[in-house]
Amino acid sequence: MSVTPMMAQYLEIKAQYPDALLFYRMGDFYEMFFEDAVNAAEALDIALTKRGKHEGEDIPMCGVPVHAAEGYLLTLIRKGFRVAVGEQLESPAEAKKRGSKSVVKRDVVRLVTPGTLTEDSLLEARRHNFLVAYSELRDQAALAWADISTGVFHVMPVARVRLSPELARLAPSELIVADGAVYDATLPLADEYKIPLTPLGKASFDSTAAEKRLCRLFNVGALDGFGTFSRAEISAMGAVVDYLEITQKGKLPLLQPPLQESEDRTVQIDASTRRNLELTRSLSGGRAGSLLSVVDRTVTPGGARLLEQRLSSPSRNLDVISSRLAALDAAVEDPTRSDALRGLLRKTPDIDRALSRLALDRGGPRDLAAIRNALSQGEEIERELQDQDLPPLLTEARNSLGGFDDLLSLLDAALIAEPPLLARDGGFIATGYDSELDEARTLRDEGRSVIAGLQKKYAEHTGINSLKIKHNNVLGYFIETTATHAAKMQSAPMSETYIHRQTTANQVRFTTVELSEIETKILNAGNLALEIEKRLYQRLCSAILDCAARLNQAARGFAEIDLVTALADLARGENWTRPRVDTSRAFHVDGGRHPVVEQALRQQGGETFVANDCDLSTDDGAAVWLLTGPNMAGKSTFLRQNALIAVLAQMGSYVPAESAHIGMVSQLFSRVGASDDLARGRSTFMVEMVETAAILNQADDRALVILDEIGRGTATYDGLSIAWATLEHLHEVNRSRALFATHYHELTQLAAKLPGVDNATVSVKEWEGEVIFLHEVKKGAADRSYGVQVAQLAGLPASVVERARSVLDMLEKSSREGGGAGKVQIDDLPLFAAAPAPQPKPAKGPSPAEKLLEEIFPDDLTPREALEALYRLKDAS
Ligand code: ADP
Repeated sequence: MSVTPMMAQYLEIKAQYPDALLFYRMGDFYEMFFEDAVNAAEALDIALTKRGKHEGEDIPMCGVPVHAAEGYLLTLIRKGFRVAVGEQLESPAEAKKRGSKSVVKRDVVRLVTPGTLTEDSLLEARRHNFLVAYSELRDQAALAWADISTGVFHVMPVARVRLSPELARLAPSELIVADGAVYDATLPLADEYKIPLTPLGKASFDSTAAEKRLCRLFNVGALDGFGTFSRAEISAMGAVVDYLEITQKGKLPLLQPPLQESEDRTVQIDASTRRNLELTRSLSGGRAGSLLSVVDRTVTPGGARLLEQRLSSPSRNLDVISSRLAALDAAVEDPTRSDALRGLLRKTPDIDRALSRLALDRGGPRDLAAIRNALSQGEEIERELQDQDLPPLLTEARNSLGGFDDLLSLLDAALIAEPPLLARDGGFIATGYDSELDEARTLRDEGRSVIAGLQKKYAEHTGINSLKIKHNNVLGYFIETTATHAAKMQSAPMSETYIHRQTTANQVRFTTVELSEIETKILNAGNLALEIEKRLYQRLCSAILDCAARLNQAARGFAEIDLVTALADLARGENWTRPRVDTSRAFHVDGGRHPVVEQALRQQGGETFVANDCDLSTDDGAAVWLLTGPNMAGKSTFLRQNALIAVLAQMGSYVPAESAHIGMVSQLFSRVGASDDLARGRSTFMVEMVETAAILNQADDRALVILDEIGRGTATYDGLSIAWATLEHLHEVNRSRALFATHYHELTQLAAKLPGVDNATVSVKEWEGEVIFLHEVKKGAADRSYGVQVAQLAGLPASVVERARSVLDMLEKSSREGGGAGKVQIDDLPLFAAAPAPQPKPAKGPSPAEKLLEEIFPDDLTPREALEALYRLKDAS
């Protein structure tokens, strides 16, 4: 059976894009066929129809209108599809000229994937959209990443074991890897972080070809000017560029020269720590409730993106931190100026994204206006920052905003105030800018007023007052009258003047020679005007793209000023303080607060947050605070707030405290709470142990470690012994600064044995049998855990609380009397009214574990012996 020429073309194009949905342009629609149609119709919830037959079977089809395509694209991309956009490359008339049977030439002009988006409607304005490539070559490995919507391009060497934390930091929208082994190795990670993974042929990663590709892109003879790169780094960068060429069909986005990063420039924070601390996302996945959401006072999308990046990658470079803090000091000290700057920035459009759309030829007049408006705001911001003694960071940012006089006056003169989105229909060039354009427009407009005159004339001529001259795309200009009046027009002597064009249900349409002539004039003048506007549009685009590198710098300048003034606003508004950051091993926070909990409490309008001190300073060796206290007292909050203060200080922000002295932290680890991770098929306890293992294997004496309730997920003795051994290892081997919260009171004895361990507790008050949380952290060990009281607060039935209280009394009494908790006879307990009578315990001798227990005298044991004893006990039980 023969295939229609159109279907043949479709199948040929589709064969090149087996992994993507093919949007096949037909007039005003993108059509999808076969499997694509079935999948897309379901994903988009649109009607699935049929069109013709292929090999005897109906061809399933669905379509979306071109003008609404962006919305559908967004849905498809979010649902994990990639879309190949196949456009018509010539008009039907041109196709006809080539031969009567030819179909319109079509080809894919762009492959839309999650990592290569540029449309505002498809992107989140305040987040980066990173396309990341990972490459392994022999014993080297590297990551390169780009955001084509802003032009940033980075690269860094990274060992495979460090891949997970780096991916957690970058949160890519798409990860590209070489087909085969690397793909298999990265698949679980991509699954875990829900990153779309795209395998590419090995050729894309070939480092020799990559080098050439990069040199061509940046128009240089060698890459040396940008840094010294390993083969793996070159390969990863080359893969990014190759993928962009594949998806953008040769139209390369504006990429800035690659910026080389290294692991030791930023604080290492692994994926679970990031999750636990809720730096940029809360545990539930959204932005709300994260540290980012509470500290973000930026007023531009660029500033917001910079903030997220800084918060995800706190610095380890003292010079960098100091210079950011110096800029912040200046902004804090001059609130009036900061507010003025923020006012100006609010009106500053997103240069980066406008620029990238223009570079990819996907922009419009509004992008030109965005650049113009930003540059003119830039002039005013520059004026606000004229003083000589500005800190270097702000001086640099200010200087990046200037020097655009020519471009700005060009755009000012050429564009109207609020141009339309698309260049297609014209109407964006200001009157007075181009005389040829003005002339064409006048002709066109005069024609329109002549037509208005004609309507009057024809109405008089025919005696039909309701006669109208209208316009549509099919007929052009026409005279329209109701069917009842039409007869008048067709009667002689008028029949020659009014030429019938169309009869609809209620209307009859005519034209005249005169009307057609004027229409042609209007059309010609209009077409000419449009052509001139398109030419001018191209000229303005080139003028802008010629300044692309400097405009990128300016965008960075705006973002920097936005971030500095936003952090200053936050610091003043929330009464934050400037941290002292140095290379010591201090960690001394007075009056520290948890910004997210504090804000939540404020919004609830109840309690105020209780500030707490923390001192883990040490010259040498470990410094560990062992924190005990009942549930709900505020242990986790205290742990996290200190980690967050370190992050904020090292990103160059003020911190929520009365004072803070932070000796540079190189790694941040946290193991907080016992969150279930059933989705990954691991038990809570397994997750906890995996995370603890990572900490004990990696933390060094510059790490800050936060451990909450280690060992909770298993039996008491197991848990206690693991917590015990973990604390010892941290103290002896890792020698980190650490906060260790536990409900095992037994551990508090370690403070007496290990010099770097101090006990601290979150205090509570007991009043008439109820517990009152004071949320105050003070030195010393908690006397008891108040579990029963907390249970009561939580609304456990009164009878259950009562019963628990009496069980507890008995247990405590028996343990005081020296027999150990295990000796309590359930029978000894008063009967619980509502409970079935306990079964009498069969009489028998002491168990092996009990025998062992009797031989143990805790005061004589070293921690290690104690641990061994615990293992023996466990074996015996
Ligand atoms: P824990 O880890 O000891 O079980 P959390 O840290 O989860 O306790 O704190 C429980 C609740 O107590 C928090 O949700 C918060 O509302 C409140 N809280 C904690 N710390 C403070 C504080 N310093 N000041 C005021 N309220 C606090």
